[in-house]
Amino acid sequence: MAKCEQGYLCEVCGLDVEEITESDLYLRYVIGLVDPETLHTSRERHIVCNPTLAQFIVDEAFPPVVVTGPFDKRTLDPADVRERESLVTRGWRRLRDLAGSEISVLEYPLPEMRARLEQRIL
Ligand SMILES: [Zn+2]
Repeated sequence: MAKCEQGYLCEVCGLDVEEITESDLYLRYVIGLVDPETLHTSRERHIVCNPTLAQFIVDEAFPPVVVTGPFDKRTLDPADVRERESLVTRGWRRLRDLAGSEISVLEYPLPEMRARLEQRIL
């Protein structure tokens, strides 16, 4: 991330969120859960500090996160879980691709989310 964007602290553990690939805020943004208008006013968190979302990232490069309790994905509907895993994992891979790229923040979201945003603007 650019120098001026450093220094966002995780509201859960209080440590720096140094890389876009560890940012829960940007992950939720690319999968359409955070609006562009609220991106810069929302609190930052590490992906791993939000395990209920992080558990849906299924990638060899991402150490699996396990949730216990009511939001444990093993207790949820398998079809919903598969859909969620597909979306969140693609979102995380997108962050990995974005790291170090020069594209505009408005182009960060996944293609189908961008389409939805553009429709709403029109
Ligand atoms: Zn944290």
